[in-house]
Amino acid sequence: METTTDRPILVTGAGGFIGGHLVARLLDENHRVRAVDIKPVERWYQRHPGAENMVADLRLREACEHAVSGVGAVYNLASDMGGMGFIEGNKWECMINVLIDTHLLEALRGREVDAYFYASTACVYPAGLQDDPEVRALREAEAYPADPEDGYGWEKLFGERLCLNHRADFGTPIRIGRYHNVYGPQGTWQGGREKAPAAICRKVAEAVVSGRHEIEIWGDGEQTRSFMFIDDGIEGTRRLADSTVETPLNIGSSEMVTINQLVDIVSSIAGVDLERRHDLSAPQGVRGRNSDNTLIEAELGWYPSIALRDGLEQTYEWIHRQVVASRA
Ligand code: NAD
Repeated sequence: METTTDRPILVTGAGGFIGGHLVARLLDENHRVRAVDIKPVERWYQRHPGAENMVADLRLREACEHAVSGVGAVYNLASDMGGMGFIEGNKWECMINVLIDTHLLEALRGREVDAYFYASTACVYPAGLQDDPEVRALREAEAYPADPEDGYGWEKLFGERLCLNHRADFGTPIRIGRYHNVYGPQGTWQGGREKAPAAICRKVAEAVVSGRHEIEIWGDGEQTRSFMFIDDGIEGTRRLADSTVETPLNIGSSEMVTINQLVDIVSSIAGVDLERRHDLSAPQGVRGRNSDNTLIEAELGWYPSIALRDGLEQTYEWIHRQVVASRA
């Protein structure tokens, strides 16, 4: 946000992947930051002593009232979520995030903020537009007629509507970023919530460390995706939050690859050749997905452009270190 206020900026989900990086960036920009997450602080992915760190369950109305008290802006990133393996099997957990979105906005009623940023997702787009690996990139307007990912996608699309109607009724300056698959260091890399880039970096690192040169890939590996490096994600978030754009914007890379190509890149970074086993019964999500960046470029004069290989080099290096440390 423009520094029109010396009030703190609230970042929810600050103990998570994107939230941890965002708090770092805001502190670097000399903002005061209130960082909130449900996890005990010892389990936050990044702990920033310069922020006011607060543990709270934001599904509760009173916790939201406390969190927004006196803040000048809000980035709402809190969500109980994960990769395809998590969201396909935990639809209720994903949908109940609606309490966070509702109570935060309710708590903001009658308060003035410079901006309210909502972390939405590419999962809001209709499945029917994503049934081919050669998919056409998704444009923002195509979220309707709605047929999003059941559970997580529906909750996020409803979350967007909460924001849009808060603006309509109370004039709140809302900003909605639809993230497409964000990856990078200091994210979830094990435990069942990790996404494809982290999972593949971990499997390759485990193969390197164990000497068992094989890898399991979910599906036939021909499903396509684009993956955005965290630095682009944070830059896009900050640019959108500082803008006057009040409609949802894709924040995603348009460099589309198959999952097999993702494995090729990570293997070549690690310098190994792995025997591949495809698990056709594993969760795979949609068949193809890519981000159309026409609107973000028109609105912000910028779009995510860090090359996948460059981002994966940093991510693999970090995950390899975690794998080695966890074995030690
Ligand atoms: P993350 O899981 O690393 O971080 C989310 C954080 O929210 C976690 O630390 C979690 O403890 C916290 N949280 C969950 N329930 C909470 C509650 N009731 N009260 C307070 N905190 C709570 O996820 P992330 O990758 O950093 O994602 C951040 C946001 O971006 C989420 O809203 C997510 O849906 C969205 N998003 C992420 C991606 C991606 O690829 N990472 C893609 C699309 C959208």
